[in-house]
Amino acid sequence: QKFVYDFTEGNKDLKDLLGGKGANLAEMTNLGLPVPPGFTITTEACKVYLERGTEPESLRAEVSEHLAALEERMGKRLGQADDPLLVSVRSGAKFSMPGMMDTVLNIGLSDASVAGLAAQAGDERFAWDSYRRLIQMFGKTVLGVDGELFEEALEAAKHAKGVTTDVELDAADLRGLVEEFKGIVAKETGRDFPQEPREQMDLAVRAVFDSWNGDRAKLYRRQERIPGDLGTAVNVCSMVFGNLGPDSGTGVAFTRDPASGHQGVYGDYLQNAQGEDVVAGIRNTVPLAELERLDKASYDQLMQIMETLETHYKDLCDIEFTIERGKLWMLQTRVGKRTAGAAFRIATQLVDQGLIDEAEALQRVTGGQLAQLMFPRFDEKAEAELLGRGIAASPGAAVGRAVFDSYTAVKWSRSGEKVILIRRETNPDDLDGMIAAEGILTSRGGKTSHAAVVARGMGKTCVCGAEELEVDTKQRRMTVPGGVVVQEGDVVSIDGSSGKVYLGEVPVVPSPVVEYFEGRVDPAAEDADDLVKAVHRMMSYADGTRRLEVRANADNAEDAARARRFGARGIGLCRTEHMFLGERRELVERLILADTDAERDEALGALMPLQKADFVELFEAMDGLPVTVRLLDPPLHEFLPDITDLSVRVALAEARQEPHENELRLLQAVHKLHEQNPMLGLRGVRLGLVIPGLFAMQVRAIAEAAAERRTAGGDPRAEVMIPLVGTVQELEIVREEAEKVIAEVERATGTELRLALGTMIELPRAALTAGQIAEAAEFFSFGTNDLTQTVWGFSRDDVEASFFTAYLEKGIFGVSPFETIDKDGVGSLVRAAAEAGRATRPDLKLGVCGEHGGDPESVHFFHHVGLDYVSCSPFRVPVARLEAGRAAA
Ligand code: ADP
Ligand code: MG
Ligand code: MG
Repeated sequence: QKFVYDFTEGNKDLKDLLGGKGANLAEMTNLGLPVPPGFTITTEACKVYLERGTEPESLRAEVSEHLAALEERMGKRLGQADDPLLVSVRSGAKFSMPGMMDTVLNIGLSDASVAGLAAQAGDERFAWDSYRRLIQMFGKTVLGVDGELFEEALEAAKHAKGVTTDVELDAADLRGLVEEFKGIVAKETGRDFPQEPREQMDLAVRAVFDSWNGDRAKLYRRQERIPGDLGTAVNVCSMVFGNLGPDSGTGVAFTRDPASGHQGVYGDYLQNAQGEDVVAGIRNTVPLAELERLDKASYDQLMQIMETLETHYKDLCDIEFTIERGKLWMLQTRVGKRTAGAAFRIATQLVDQGLIDEAEALQRVTGGQLAQLMFPRFDEKAEAELLGRGIAASPGAAVGRAVFDSYTAVKWSRSGEKVILIRRETNPDDLDGMIAAEGILTSRGGKTSHAAVVARGMGKTCVCGAEELEVDTKQRRMTVPGGVVVQEGDVVSIDGSSGKVYLGEVPVVPSPVVEYFEGRVDPAAEDADDLVKAVHRMMSYADGTRRLEVRANADNAEDAARARRFGARGIGLCRTEHMFLGERRELVERLILADTDAERDEALGALMPLQKADFVELFEAMDGLPVTVRLLDPPLHEFLPDITDLSVRVALAEARQEPHENELRLLQAVHKLHEQNPMLGLRGVRLGLVIPGLFAMQVRAIAEAAAERRTAGGDPRAEVMIPLVGTVQELEIVREEAEKVIAEVERATGTELRLALGTMIELPRAALTAGQIAEAAEFFSFGTNDLTQTVWGFSRDDVEASFFTAYLEKGIFGVSPFETIDKDGVGSLVRAAAEAGRATRPDLKLGVCGEHGGDPESVHFFHHVGLDYVSCSPFRVPVARLEAGRAAA
């Protein structure tokens, strides 16, 4: 097995093996771009190491072979005393994990070679600066020394000299610092900083392997649902130097604006610096456009390379580059992360440029991104006190209490507070605080700072580099030049789309994308928002491609009308229990308390016209489209007062000797209906079978409403759905009763109703006997919420609070099975039931209602299983449409 690949041997499709960074370094090398030579140790080698705790036997020899070839090519040996070859050892997993893994630069420098490097570069300061960086990075990431110790020593050196930046330290200062750093390493680790170059390299490679299982890496993977067993590759890359004086520097760039998607020159450049300085936000960078003035030749070459990359990758790329004494080097590229808005704009731009087709464009956006674009924004017309302005790093409107450290962010958010995490700059240690916060605000760093990159990845609102705001994390406050002081706990609002920061809570308005879905914005209008135009185009690609229909869950005319505007083709789930609440509760109580048939019929008789009126409105709003009405599902006690409240009321009345006969009767009924496990109790079809007349009343209301609409010239398409069926016998009994009622209504009204009768499949037994059930059902709707509960045997209402966190932490689930369908378990029942049902009744209509219907990953699954439609809440309808299109593209 081959464990090491030269950059000339790989290509961009080998990400599994070479990691993203390695694969793309190889791709750039083979495109003829200026990449410093090097080689990649594969993820396979990492996996072996993580499994066995030692590197594979053949690895050492293979690395030696590639190192020898590299030395040959560069004309110098690693760490050679008079002219050292230096390398970086860089992690690079299949998926980019910003700041999560560790990279060590300047490997090969030692007491013996530092003078040689100085002589070769003709720059003593540079050599000592490189050496102190090596000891610092190596000490921290490989030897596990607390990085603060080095930082403090560096600060102290600057302070002693009375300077503020590290460039002001001279060779002698840095030489002193190197001694100090070596002392720190010796003291903290009990061993000297390794002077042998190859040993440095091997230790660094191993540290990269180990960092795969670092806490931060694990947390990030869980967040991003990246599998834990992929391992990381390691890239060994010959060093180029951006810290060789003013004609050197380093930068990062995007081929288009990752925040908006607009074309132009976007990036940050830092003169006389080594790579990590930019991302860390140590010194303030200049906009990339400045480079044109500083070094026109390199700038022009860079622009050309960026164009080459974009055309080659057919997508937005981000890059890292370094200029060494006027010579440009490419250090990294990848298809860049972007905001949701940018994703939609870029996808349509690339179609217009002829680089990709519509099907490919659909793969460039996600339902999650669309959902983000539907979030509200700050109301521009609202009075708001502007505190300052930073860089719009990741869009959204976030309001919360100011907190100045991650610990507090997590603590407060756990107790239900919304918080804005305010830092001078963030680093990987802030990750859990960033996850907990509504938004992130920093006073330093550009669009490529840690805060910006990570926030964009998480879809979290972020404003960074708000330099006029003085953040004091020790005092837990932020000061504005005008004199306003924001203390911990004060409310602030941050706008990640404009970069503005406000004091207090700013009201929000709907997003233009929602306005478009609502039909209040015309995407064809000349002055329409370009985001709206892009979304409109992507939605039409999706609608033109998808096979799955999308319906909505709605139980009133208003929601139905909205769902229709949002593109729903019918209602997949109309819950009738909501129609039993409010003032009607009393009627339901009477129904439950009825002692005689007459009393019960009277209560039902009073409910009937109310239900019917609801249905009439609903059928009108969804005229011409199917409306699936589910008969009453929840346990009856849900309509009765809480047992404790009621007991107290009865006791009080007794004590006061007040009349309480009714309360007493209710209490008795509550006791009688009380169940240990109501979710598995008297509910669904069981109610219909046990309470005479209940389902008949509901069916009559549906049928009469349909008849009324038909007579009025409408086109009602009602479907009656029986919940919680476990066996075909239950369904047959209800069906017989329902057919009788429908026939009566048809006769009485002289209409032909053609109501479809079907069932939910939400119990394992129903799924397992779907072939039989299909004999009595014209359609199935998979109730995947209940099906998930019953297949796993856990209660959705309880588990999230009790053990799910532990399960997620232990990696038993990547994501809650209530959020994304469990394909292997619940999903395979859905698949089998769909097949069995269709075997019995080839024209059986199949759908899904419940949360999964609006979940992107689940929608893809339902597409592949061959369902006819998904049904979800009205606001998720566009997301489901888009994902259904993506699944079919
Ligand atoms: P990350 O994945 O965190 O970006 P990288 O491996 O890309 O880590 O390296 C960190 C920084 O060091 C980057 O700015 C990169 O450009 C720089 N760097 C890495 N290798 C070299 C090299 N051989 N020469 C000069 N700079 C380098
Ligand atoms: Mg990098
Ligand atoms: Mg259910």
